[in-house]
Amino acid sequence: MDLNQLTIKEAQQKLASKELSSLDLVQDCIERIKKTDKKVHAFLNTNFDQAQKQAKEVDKKIKKGEHLKTLEGIPCGIKDMILTEGIITTASSKMLQNYKPLFDATVIKKLKENGAIILGKHNCDAWGHGSSTENSDYGPSHNPWDLERVPGGSSGGSAASVAADQVIYSLGTDTGGSIRHPASLCGVVGLKPTYGRVSRYGAIAMGSSLDQIGPICKTVEDSAIVMNAISGQDKLDSTTVPKTVPDYTKNLQQGIKGLKIGVPKQAFVKGLDPQVKNLIQVAINDLEKQGAKIEEVELKTLPYGLACYYIIMPSEVSSNLGRYDGIRYGYQDKDAQDLFEIYTKSRAKGFGAEAKRRIMIGTYVLSAGYYDAYYKKAMRVRTLIKQEFDSAFNKVDLLLMPTSPRPSFKIGENINDPLTMYLEDIYTVTINLAGIPAISVPCGYVNNLPIGMQLIGKQFDEETILRAAYAYEQANGWNKIKPSLK
Ligand code: GLN
Repeated sequence: MDLNQLTIKEAQQKLASKELSSLDLVQDCIERIKKTDKKVHAFLNTNFDQAQKQAKEVDKKIKKGEHLKTLEGIPCGIKDMILTEGIITTASSKMLQNYKPLFDATVIKKLKENGAIILGKHNCDAWGHGSSTENSDYGPSHNPWDLERVPGGSSGGSAASVAADQVIYSLGTDTGGSIRHPASLCGVVGLKPTYGRVSRYGAIAMGSSLDQIGPICKTVEDSAIVMNAISGQDKLDSTTVPKTVPDYTKNLQQGIKGLKIGVPKQAFVKGLDPQVKNLIQVAINDLEKQGAKIEEVELKTLPYGLACYYIIMPSEVSSNLGRYDGIRYGYQDKDAQDLFEIYTKSRAKGFGAEAKRRIMIGTYVLSAGYYDAYYKKAMRVRTLIKQEFDSAFNKVDLLLMPTSPRPSFKIGENINDPLTMYLEDIYTVTINLAGIPAISVPCGYVNNLPIGMQLIGKQFDEETILRAAYAYEQANGWNKIKPSLK
């Protein structure tokens, strides 16, 4: 087995027992990236020199018999939406082409405090807008399971990189599914934490009331390990909550006997690929065999989630992207003749088509004549969605749905059809609107393309979704199958 194929847990053990050196592990990942990234295009920028230096320091500690921190010496990649001091961070947009952050996002600070080694920045849809990485201004990433297909999005580079064993784990951001969707399409595990669990300080803002940072890993246990490192209140993000962070690895093995899992009727409707539906049904049966109690539940607001999200999210996008004006940050058009032209030309050339589409929708639904009809109404629907989840969770401990309605599609297939693309998010966006946590865990293959199942939990109950996902993963082991990358 190549070292780059290790999980965090395995690497931890091998480093601690001196079976492995951090430099060897980092080297294997770098070799793998050099060999495969021409095909996968998961990376926008790499940080190899720094990573090698850090690994050598870790090896000195190992030699001296010093205790290692949880992520010490283990290489990862970071979605290019998360600020990394001194490493170019672009949000995959031309607007931030050469932007070198002067500080680390809180999650990066926390990873570093835990000894993490960053190998580079992962490609994504520009500003997190998309479900395929095709909206990256630097070209799409490719799905390691079929290089002609998309890895999902927007954290597609992160998921593809983990699936291709280029890195041991990655951090993504999720505003409407961007961690879970690519995890599903690439056959890896993606967790979106509760809103307020993980600091957003230093994440490039997309929809501030929806955004969360979370792990993309090879296993559920690894996701718990990363959650331990990144969670908790942060005085730099006033939406984080002063709640103690549990040890997410502690109850993983407790099993799911007696756990009540609700399956929303409304999730199994037209538009869901019949083969995906079958796999989800098989997974439900499996969980039942392991002792879970399955109940059908009503989630009447589910069909309205997408419309609601595609009003609220662009409203916040239009506001958040207002700061990129050619003066304060980012790209400035050199042909501009006056101040007004600096704004208009810089924004016209710096933003891609999808960002412009969202800015226009957002400013439209927020404008005086339309605010009540669209934005205010969408906010009301959002409250109803949240209330319906609350009442579902009075009856059950978890909810289960597909993550994505179909397997990965061909690059270019939907590029001129934004509405079809938005339908990809049908199962993920309501979770962000409600602010609750959800995980996507591999549950099988359709035509050799991975499919994910989504487990959704109560606010701040990441522990239960991790426990159920762990039980399912241990019984099925889909994550052990690797793409051939041909
Ligand atoms: N695919 C969704 C969108 O395009 C979700 C994006 C995200 O979570 N960043 O908005």
